[in-house]
Amino acid sequence: MRPVNLIVIHCSATRTGSDYPPAQLENDHRARGFARAGYNYYIRRAGGIVEMRPLGMVPAHVTGHNRHSVGICYEGGLDENGKPSDTRTPQQKEAILQLLRYLLRKFPGCRICGHRDLANKACPCFDVKAEYGFLVMS
Ligand SMILES: [Zn+2]
Repeated sequence: MRPVNLIVIHCSATRTGSDYPPAQLENDHRARGFARAGYNYYIRRAGGIVEMRPLGMVPAHVTGHNRHSVGICYEGGLDENGKPSDTRTPQQKEAILQLLRYLLRKFPGCRICGHRDLANKACPCFDVKAEYGFLVMS
């Protein structure tokens, strides 16, 4: 297993209530020239966790931080008008929490942040450190 010291959370920039299936995500990333979807995990609105790129593979999700990181993306991130918004469902919040706990057991001491903490973007449209920072400190 490659060394991992950072987990980065993204949104798919999908409007609330809209479906953006994993196959579509995969196709869109291939169209951008990636070998496959850039994220390691994708969290559906109903809380399903889909592995998109095995953990042992370097993800393609944030410039300058791919090699030692894990990328997680949740389905959503835009309100009905297409504006950045925290659209996570309760099931998604629970799934993200479970996944983070799993990854922190696998990679102790890992940092957790949102895409916007590393780049000038709205993604993932919520404050990752405020919500999940306690996992890192506990
Ligand atoms: Zn992002």
